[in-house]
Amino acid sequence: THTLDIAKIRADFPILQRTVHKKPLIYLDNAASSQKPNQVIEAVARYYRRHNANVHRGLHTLSEEATTAYESAREKVRAFINAAEIAEVIFTKGTTEAINLVASSYGRAHLRAGDEVLITYMEHHSNIVPWQMICEQTGAVLRVCPINERGELLMDEFERLLNDKTRIVAFNHISNSLGTVNPVKRMVQLAHAAGAVTLVDGAQAVPHQGVDVRDLDCDFYAFSGHKMFAPTGIGVLYGKRYLLEQMPPYQGGGDMIKSVSFEKTVYNELPSKFEAGTPIIAGAVGLGAAIDYLNEVGLEAISDYEYGLLTYGTEQLKTVPGLRMIGEAAEKTSVFSFVLDGAHPHDIGTILSHTGVAVRTGHHCTEPLMKFFKVPATVRASLAFYNTREEIDALVVGLGKVREMLL
Ligand code: PMP
Repeated sequence: THTLDIAKIRADFPILQRTVHKKPLIYLDNAASSQKPNQVIEAVARYYRRHNANVHRGLHTLSEEATTAYESAREKVRAFINAAEIAEVIFTKGTTEAINLVASSYGRAHLRAGDEVLITYMEHHSNIVPWQMICEQTGAVLRVCPINERGELLMDEFERLLNDKTRIVAFNHISNSLGTVNPVKRMVQLAHAAGAVTLVDGAQAVPHQGVDVRDLDCDFYAFSGHKMFAPTGIGVLYGKRYLLEQMPPYQGGGDMIKSVSFEKTVYNELPSKFEAGTPIIAGAVGLGAAIDYLNEVGLEAISDYEYGLLTYGTEQLKTVPGLRMIGEAAEKTSVFSFVLDGAHPHDIGTILSHTGVAVRTGHHCTEPLMKFFKVPATVRASLAFYNTREEIDALVVGLGKVREMLL
């Protein structure tokens, strides 16, 4: 097994040193957004202090340096997910924009009335609404794969729902509300056998485990930088070249063209074709630095460590009277979603905050899932590799205080 030097890692994240309500911050809202290490903060600051200029345009030194910084971040992303070539790595502002790009561009070009798009019951709104929108525009039909009480996909139903009308199958790698790890490789194989293309929402996977898009064989893979220790405003769409080549541009503007005249515009090569306008240069630089950082710590070590925390936390939370865990999949990572008899999640979140513990309360952008579990909201404590057993203990103590105050 691999070990992490947690004290050293925590020292890299300056925000973990601060207090809230005069208590040490215990940050357990990593599924919403992760904290940033000095290595990322410094890389962004260094870019602005030394190299800032627009990319791809000027022949002056700063523009060349900015272009090199931006494009070398793309190469880091390519290696990180093991894509075949940098042309398959499109920078977006996040998972949401990446999914909207595919729904708009691929969806509009390929969906006809009566075609089907298959998603699952545990999708984030960002992997539901773009498909609803494109279905409405094209007359395609949205199908939804159901789940069981533990929060696992019903794979028999998944197979049953795939048919010769299925064009696109979109699902998350790891559920943000439940922590369920889906059998992505198998799902991709089944979807391909039915003749459909696949989009994997990897927003919750990339901070926790190694991802190899060629091994998964998915057609599209989307994720956000801010959940993997990089800045907000930067994300990635991976797509197989032959599909991206066929797809019309998502947005028009500068950088995505080869030549423009009023009679005819020729679009640029990949990946520029999908990156209209001045890109998120500093964000890409920060994402590159976050990838370097993750590689140095090691994703295998991170997975092992977080699995230990998940097991420990699950046992500890079971000792809290009246606590009901939402999501108990056999394959699970990094998320404790729960409700407490007689206490509203929002009140729990507020009281916990006063003990220094940051958790998310609400529907976590998965309203259909809340309906399935017949709860209006849950409390969600979500882990990163800088969290500790002591912090989980503090969450459990905080829940004791919640019970004293509310029950
Ligand atoms: N999908 C999943 C599974 C998520 O957890 C999130 C963020 N909560 C998103 C998509 C959307 O990501 P973003 O808001 O960064 O675009």
